[in-house]
Amino acid sequence: MAVIRWRRKLFFATIIAYMPLMWLSNRFFPSFRGMAITFSIWVVILFITALYSALARCPRCGNYFHMHGMSLMYLRRCLHCQLSVKS
Ligand SMILES: [Zn+2]
Repeated sequence: MAVIRWRRKLFFATIIAYMPLMWLSNRFFPSFRGMAITFSIWVVILFITALYSALARCPRCGNYFHMHGMSLMYLRRCLHCQLSVKS
């Protein structure tokens, strides 16, 4: 369960990091190209952390914690057995 919490944190941290990252990019590379490069790097990191957290398995039922079929949902509970992230 600690693994799932850590991966969720990493994913949300990436989303939150977007604003300061863009601000820093604007400050040091004040061009459209610099912003575009920073943005694409951020998208890649977001994709990796999303995948990483989506592939975390539930310790109780063994299914993917945030995935049910094709749907990916970041709820506080397992989509299969309702096990809470806090437990
Ligand atoms: Zn489960």
